[in-house]
Amino acid sequence: MSQIEMSLRGEFTEEMNSVAVAEQLDINLIMRRVASGKIVIPSNVNRKARAVGIGKGLKTKVNASIGTSTDIIDIEMEIEKARMAEKYGADTLMDLSVGGDVTQIRRAVMDAITLPLGTVPLYEAFAVAAEKYGSITKMPEGLLWDTIERQCEEGVAFMAVHCGINRLTLEVLKKQHYRYGGLVSKGGACMVAWMQYNNAENPLYANFDKVAGILRRYGVVLSLGNGFRAGAIHDATDRVQIQELIVNCEFAEAGRAMGCQTMVEGPGHIPINEIEANIILAKKMSGEAPFYMLGPITTDIAPGYDHITSAIGAALAASHGVDFLCYVTPAEHLGLPFTEDVREGVVAAKIAAHIGDMVKLSDTNRDKAISKARRDMDWMNQFKLAIDPERAIEIRNKRNSSSDERTCTMCGKFCANDMLQGIFEAHSKGTDKQ
Ligand code: SF4
Repeated sequence: MSQIEMSLRGEFTEEMNSVAVAEQLDINLIMRRVASGKIVIPSNVNRKARAVGIGKGLKTKVNASIGTSTDIIDIEMEIEKARMAEKYGADTLMDLSVGGDVTQIRRAVMDAITLPLGTVPLYEAFAVAAEKYGSITKMPEGLLWDTIERQCEEGVAFMAVHCGINRLTLEVLKKQHYRYGGLVSKGGACMVAWMQYNNAENPLYANFDKVAGILRRYGVVLSLGNGFRAGAIHDATDRVQIQELIVNCEFAEAGRAMGCQTMVEGPGHIPINEIEANIILAKKMSGEAPFYMLGPITTDIAPGYDHITSAIGAALAASHGVDFLCYVTPAEHLGLPFTEDVREGVVAAKIAAHIGDMVKLSDTNRDKAISKARRDMDWMNQFKLAIDPERAIEIRNKRNSSSDERTCTMCGKFCANDMLQGIFEAHSKGTDKQ
């Protein structure tokens, strides 16, 4: 039975309890929001993963995506990337492998981590079709259903499924005539090619009840994929993106009514002044289903630094109510990320999530504590409170002052904090605000 079905019966699950403890919120509130679809907990009856709540009133969560490509297939590196993502604080992991034995890779990754694992089953189905039948367009529908069912059986906790692509959304795309960035969703592009070649409706749209029914049985969260998301800033919030969003929001409601946990995916590439509007639209049209934003990347001119372009967008998105962020690594648009890229991407997205939560949840205690430690030159506490202590320690150690260990080499003997120690120490003992 899914989390939503249990909550509708008024029963707590172990996962709901863990989420309540982790978020320091009342379990009844968690249960009510799971029941109404405002919170989801990616889970699976066949695999016990860390319980992570995503949605209204909860801390903004971060997903890290890894996986092989057809060019680079290195299972050990994927395991290392998965461990790296978990170590640096990712809340969930998506394995998007399309190269090599993807089932073996997925199982190895799941064995290596405790995080809930997400997938895009279309990737595997199309990859198998290309290998077995010579083209993605020759994928038999049965292969798609078998892939979804098998990944659920293996213990996947959430799946991005491109249900919102249909003949109407495709027509809207064609009528629009332009798109600077084309289609950047692999699953979306493959499905469009399949529909065109077979002159057929998207089976995931036509048989939505079947999708939701399979995922519900395993307790898996259905993430309504954004196949027509903008892949260029100037394509953001265009008609086809919004048309697909409307369908996905309808499905968010329909899936929920069937007892399947649902969330909605969003763009993509988007200028910062359009982020809030996208969140309002998605939340309003879906009955406040958790909103999962990919990036969002806020300028197209910084390849090599897209963990920064996306962190800027992600911080704003989180402050406006986005619930779940997909990280972006420095390798975005350039190549398959390596292990160190995963670390950079996770840390950048965690910083963004926290900046957003400072506004969304008034979560500022850690900032106050580290500010005081900095003022008091309490280096150990600064490191303890830092989002990446290893990086902070490494930088300080490389530049440590030989003359005074209390200060740092930035100002040396003109250390402002050192000069004014007495004033703030006295103040701290008396009237300092907590
Ligand atoms: S030396 Fe300058 S930068 Fe370093 S702790 Fe003192 S005030 Fe801060």
